[in-house]
Amino acid sequence: NKNLFEEFKDLPEDWLRQKVNTVFALKNRSFMTWEQRPYLFQFPNYRPITGTEKFMYQNITISPLVSLDGSVNQAVIIIYDVTDIVANRKALEKANDELQMLSRTDRLTELYNRGYWEECLVREYARYTRYKTECSVVMLDIDHFKKVNDTYGHQAGDAVIRKVSSLVRDNLRKTDIAGRYGGEEFGVILQNTDSDSAVYFCERLRKSAEKCVVTHDGQEIKFTISLGISQADPNLMDYKAWLEQADHALYASKEGGRNQTWVYSKV
Ligand code: GH3
Ligand code: MG
Ligand code: MG
Repeated sequence: NKNLFEEFKDLPEDWLRQKVNTVFALKNRSFMTWEQRPYLFQFPNYRPITGTEKFMYQNITISPLVSLDGSVNQAVIIIYDVTDIVANRKALEKANDELQMLSRTDRLTELYNRGYWEECLVREYARYTRYKTECSVVMLDIDHFKKVNDTYGHQAGDAVIRKVSSLVRDNLRKTDIAGRYGGEEFGVILQNTDSDSAVYFCERLRKSAEKCVVTHDGQEIKFTISLGISQADPNLMDYKAWLEQADHALYASKEGGRNQTWVYSKV
């Protein structure tokens, strides 16, 4: 003859009363899973060694107890400890998230890898064709990089690639998407950005690269980058054409003498 809600002050009283009243009214069992509500009673997790969870996750069944005369005035609440199942599920989800991150990430720079970056570009192009919002794609490539490798060694080259990736990252807005497209080539998708604003982004990046010095094994390495921009337009056949235009503009920067930004134009 104790009052449940006084014994267990944390119980969600309104919620539980409603559930139990339904059981009384329908004379039928009612089930709740941990996904709907992680626990009803705030019990500790009884597996403190293997357990990563603080509380016991619970599935709940509320069953009517039928009296001899057929009326229902009592109910029983059965609690199933499903903490192990939940812990396993969470571990699996975490592992999957990590795997997905790994499969999208370039090891050297921790930017997106080419595969995932291209997936983003496909999505961005689809968004462009649907909403016609301005969007630009940038391709950039380190100048005379073979010379960096030849003069200072491959490790030093890697350090320069990493430096460029961190410069790119520092200049990004939240909605921009950067990836390592190839060896020392990078791609950046600039959402809601016309080519004039893209030039602003590129020039800021180019100038910070120009000013930068990478120190590797006591040697100071200077480098520059060339950039090409293509703003999405209605004449594009597909996302590949968009990327090719940015590549054309990059090529023009190289031809023009490197350490430059060019915007693709048909003429
Ligand atoms: P350009 O100014 O025309 O771009 O000249 P470049 O010497 O940079 O020419 P290119 O872009 O063709 O050279 C790419 C070089 O980058 C060739 C390759 O040996 C080197 N490379 C590619 N991937 C890596 C990498 O992960 N690490 C290092 N250290 N070097 C790489
Ligand atoms: Mg290069
Ligand atoms: Mg290259």
